[in-house]
Amino acid sequence: MTAPRYHLTSYGCQMNKLDSELVESKLRQRGYQAAASEAEASVVLVNTCSVRQHAEDRVWSKLGRLRLRKRSEPGLVVGVLGCMAQEHKRYLLSRMPHVDLVVGPSAFGDIDVTVDRARERNARIAAAREPARTRHEVAGAGVLAVDRGQSGDTIRRDVRVRPHRSQAFLSVMRGCNMPCTYCIVPTTRGDEVSREIADLVDEAQRLCDDGVTEITLLGQTVNAYGRDLTGRNATLARLLRALHEIPSLRRLAFITSHPNFLGPDLVAAMAELPKVARYLHLPAQSGSNAVLKQMRRGYTVERYLTRVEQLLAAAPDYELHSDFIVGYPGETAADFAATVAFVQRVGFAQSYVFKYSPRPGTRAAELPDDVPDAEKERRNQVLLATQAAISLTQNRALVGRTVEVLVEGASKVAGRLSGRTVHHRLVHFAATDAAPVGSYVPVRVTEALQHCVVGELLGPNDAEASAYDAAAATQAIGQGRA
Ligand code: SF4
Repeated sequence: MTAPRYHLTSYGCQMNKLDSELVESKLRQRGYQAAASEAEASVVLVNTCSVRQHAEDRVWSKLGRLRLRKRSEPGLVVGVLGCMAQEHKRYLLSRMPHVDLVVGPSAFGDIDVTVDRARERNARIAAAREPARTRHEVAGAGVLAVDRGQSGDTIRRDVRVRPHRSQAFLSVMRGCNMPCTYCIVPTTRGDEVSREIADLVDEAQRLCDDGVTEITLLGQTVNAYGRDLTGRNATLARLLRALHEIPSLRRLAFITSHPNFLGPDLVAAMAELPKVARYLHLPAQSGSNAVLKQMRRGYTVERYLTRVEQLLAAAPDYELHSDFIVGYPGETAADFAATVAFVQRVGFAQSYVFKYSPRPGTRAAELPDDVPDAEKERRNQVLLATQAAISLTQNRALVGRTVEVLVEGASKVAGRLSGRTVHHRLVHFAATDAAPVGSYVPVRVTEALQHCVVGELLGPNDAEASAYDAAAATQAIGQGRA
């Protein structure tokens, strides 16, 4: 008998991508195989994100298409996983009879069993040739809705199931205890729950034994790691130091950090540990104290800047990445101008900029959404252009320098390979067998673009090939700041 085939589409953040890997790991252990395309799958799963309206809209549209397909394929299993499953469970159960599974992020540990049950039930329905609307009575069971159970972190991860051989995510904590007014994550993912250091070291070691050399630690507020593990002295700084001991690990990154938890012990670890990647994703969200207060971010612009200065004083080779929301309720032209000035002052290497959209169930959704869409769009474009100019200046400062690149695979441009530096900067260079995926290679930068640089691979006898030019990178970081 051929193995059942699944197709899983993942939306949203890195945490969702890792959750999807864990789901795939469970399904493959149970004998499922990945389908080459969604059309060939008998189990179609969507791992969803509720953080932005746009991501939700794409899921609703996909579910609409799957409704049509299910009319002719009653045995098809359709599953909605993740944050939308948690947030819109009632609607999915009552209004979407073609959806068989609704599984929240805290119940991924049992996903293989849940999918099995749905397949068996749908097979009975298909055999009975009953219309879909009566399937619950035929099957003797309703839609399989699971929002409590084993979380993905309870799965002893099959480290062999991952998209990249040399890179892996490692979830160190789930949930978030922060009160940011615009964010649905604390509702959909619950309170912070950290994993024990020994457990994480074990998983990291197994990943490295299987060929991983770069690990990115994941948490919604990753630098708050361990504060729920009372009395265990578990902090992100201690975790970094423990993981740093794994001999075959070469790069160790962590996302996403909150400015309030960038303390001296973490700064010291970041400065001292050479394997820690030289970038910090530290979302600021706004450069206006009035807006930050409305957002309940818990810091001021001045505090953010002090934290950044402390980091750069200890470790000047770090680059900063950020997120911003434009058009938050009540954001004035002066507030927005302050954000533009803030971006120029810090000189972020890259920023993600989002137009505010109210998320039902958040405090901000109760406020008047009073910045017109056209103005949100204008602010979005202005801030993106501001960031692009800074990024281009920093990238230009690298031209002529040599950077170490972890090769990730084929570039979107034919005939090129892509990889990332220790600053997470995207580098393209001419494809060659001398730079296999997963290798670390020296590349001399020849051209700067806004979002990446282009370079040429150096040979083993090239004098410049021996070392990554940290001094050049430090010099580049200072470029483009106001
Ligand atoms: S820190 Fe704020 S924005 Fe980030 S996940 Fe928690 S509540 Fe959401």
